[in-house]
Amino acid sequence: MNHQSVRSAIGPALTSEKEKPLAVVPVLVPLPVPGPYSYAVPDQMNVSPGSIVQVPVGPRQVPGLVWDSDETAGTVDPAKLRPITQVFDCPPVDKTMRGFIDWVAAWTLTPPGLVARMVLRVPAAFDPEPWVPALQPMPEMKPERLTPARKRVFELIEDNPGAWTKSGLAHAAGVSASVIDGLAKAGTFDPVMLPPEPVVAAPDTGRKRPELTPLQAEAADTLRTAVAADAYSATLIDGVTGSGKTEVYFEAVAAALEKERQALILLPEIALTAAFLERFHDRFGARPAEWHSDMAPKMREKVWRQVAEGRVRVVAGARSALFLPYKELGLIVIDEEHDQAYKQDERVFYNARDMAVVRAHLGNLPIVLASATPSIESRVNAEAGRYGAVRLASRFGEAALPDLRTIDMRKHPPARGGFLSPVLLKAVGRAIERGEQALLFLNRRGYAPLTLCRVCGHRFQCPNCSAWLVEHRFRRQMQCHHCGHAEPVPEACPHCGTLDHLVACGPGVERLVEEVVHHFPDARTVMLSSDMPGGAKRLRLELDAIAKGEADIVIGTQLVAKGHHFPKMTVVGVVDADIGLTNGDPRSAERTFQLLHQVTGRAGRTGEQSLGLIQTYQPEHPVMAALVSGDRERFYEREIGERQRAGLPPFGRLAALIISGEDKAETEKYARSLRAAAPPSNEIDMLGPAEAPLALIRGRHRFRLLVHGDRKADLQAYIKDVIAAGPKPRGSLRVQVDIDPQSFL
Ligand code: ADP
Ligand code: ZN
Repeated sequence: MNHQSVRSAIGPALTSEKEKPLAVVPVLVPLPVPGPYSYAVPDQMNVSPGSIVQVPVGPRQVPGLVWDSDETAGTVDPAKLRPITQVFDCPPVDKTMRGFIDWVAAWTLTPPGLVARMVLRVPAAFDPEPWVPALQPMPEMKPERLTPARKRVFELIEDNPGAWTKSGLAHAAGVSASVIDGLAKAGTFDPVMLPPEPVVAAPDTGRKRPELTPLQAEAADTLRTAVAADAYSATLIDGVTGSGKTEVYFEAVAAALEKERQALILLPEIALTAAFLERFHDRFGARPAEWHSDMAPKMREKVWRQVAEGRVRVVAGARSALFLPYKELGLIVIDEEHDQAYKQDERVFYNARDMAVVRAHLGNLPIVLASATPSIESRVNAEAGRYGAVRLASRFGEAALPDLRTIDMRKHPPARGGFLSPVLLKAVGRAIERGEQALLFLNRRGYAPLTLCRVCGHRFQCPNCSAWLVEHRFRRQMQCHHCGHAEPVPEACPHCGTLDHLVACGPGVERLVEEVVHHFPDARTVMLSSDMPGGAKRLRLELDAIAKGEADIVIGTQLVAKGHHFPKMTVVGVVDADIGLTNGDPRSAERTFQLLHQVTGRAGRTGEQSLGLIQTYQPEHPVMAALVSGDRERFYEREIGERQRAGLPPFGRLAALIISGEDKAETEKYARSLRAAAPPSNEIDMLGPAEAPLALIRGRHRFRLLVHGDRKADLQAYIKDVIAAGPKPRGSLRVQVDIDPQSFL
């Protein structure tokens, strides 16, 4: 933070030692401490709950949020407290947001300061953006004789009499800056200051309202009514890919904007959804402000500030956009609400989907959840009437859903050394002969998930993690996907020293490229993977090129599955549909169903006949059967039934305690002592400790305890009791609490 730039809105903020502080306020600082600290408010400083301030903590200055007063406030002698250093000239964080911070902290068992840190992450935005110097034309000061350059300037300002920046005017008139300087000297302009440029233009709700189908119109009406009600409501839009969900929730956004409220649209992969931003632009004549981790710092500052000031009306963002300080939020939309990317599994373990519902509740505003494959949780909420439900059962226009079939890999095995069944290869061949596109989906980065020595059997393992190193042939590296460890691919086995006898086991997307190029040497083949050099920018370009038909065969990981609209894609092949089914995760069937549905949904977006082929060794598995028969409802019914019988979410509650440390025996012992400290309970069980499937990450050994309770059980209180009753973690030991875990690794 730039301390020099810190100013106070309310006059001289820095108090000298002699000035007598007047009052005491609690201030929440972005540190892992149990609650707010008390500070003295210096004379003449004006703060209220929600003010963003700077306070000393030990030798440091940190930002903080003035918190709502508690009972202790009156009992502390202000003279004994350190004073607040300064108040920023920034809109205060409102009561709803403060309540939200407390709620998230209590739910996730995280110190509230760490939740507040997510709000206070952009300290440079606490100061107002500087105004921009500009020139106000004074046409009456027009000199008698004009050079051709000066004449151009006058022609321009006579048509556009508002204020101009110097460079903007020079550029628009096609003259050099010195021409403008000369005119300024001659008194042609008054110097004025302009407010900072908005990061995005104002959306125009009437700009291009689509002609909705009757079903879409009905859905849009439901959402518009919800927005008009000015109250909390949650609505699930359940509609197949391509049915117009986006078009429909845009109407809800329009309704919120018309009411002078801000709207937040959460997306799972914002860094990649260039197409979404374009579509929004088409509909509203302006882009939404983006919010995600891949933004330039300056932009991040501007967006944060302009959201706080209400100058940004619509944010499209990743989960962290939930923690922006909206001035007047009136609607939240969560697209692809089932997506796992909404769960954060570090620092604050929170599920943005669930927390967004809480945010809507606290803010008394509507929330819309959209998906083609809703999570079991949201389906159950809709069935129980806790959420409103809107269905869009068919694709818009000519587009038909792809014809889905499984390929039984036992009957149609690939050629030796290959991974693609002849059935799939034939379909791909036919598609490119017709000038259409094919997509091969495999959710595995790199060349091969395991490399071993054919002579001694040595397997390449990460030195820091219990994970195989993944060969990345294009980068000539062996990489760990958990800690980032990388080493060059050796020529000789490090164990037995034999040269040239390393073999790759199993496929990754890079390996599929070889196979595809072998079969279709003349096709334009593109591989997309999140670890590609060039980052999000390059991915956007590639996706754009694919949409324009500049590739015949696309090979990709999960990121090609999400939301893209590829008009010429008529064949989608899932290379290994069974990958996700065997990982012991209670949601594995649901996840596989969602992912495969979404991937195959990339096909047939424009009415051509299209095909989704699913390579599997278990075509009879209920997930595959449901996909192929198109009998989604039976799948949901069965899955919901199983969850209910097992008391799994949403019919029961889960939480995980992840205990990690540098010494394995000590870590395990500590995990056991926590388990032993668990109080008896009728409605809550504790299971474990068990070594985590990822038993070692970055040199830390990991054990897991699973807490399983009834639907109404207070897991948080129980876990607090366990941690309080157990021994304090010492040395390298650490306990992480994951309420409603999505990952069990
Ligand atoms: P979903 O979000 O359900 O996948 P989209 O909203 O992306 O569906 O719609 C799929 C495609 O159909 C998009 O290209 C969209 O512009 C088009 N579309 C949907 N509804 C309409 C409509 N009423 N008028 C014109 N185009 C539409
Ligand atoms: Zn590693």
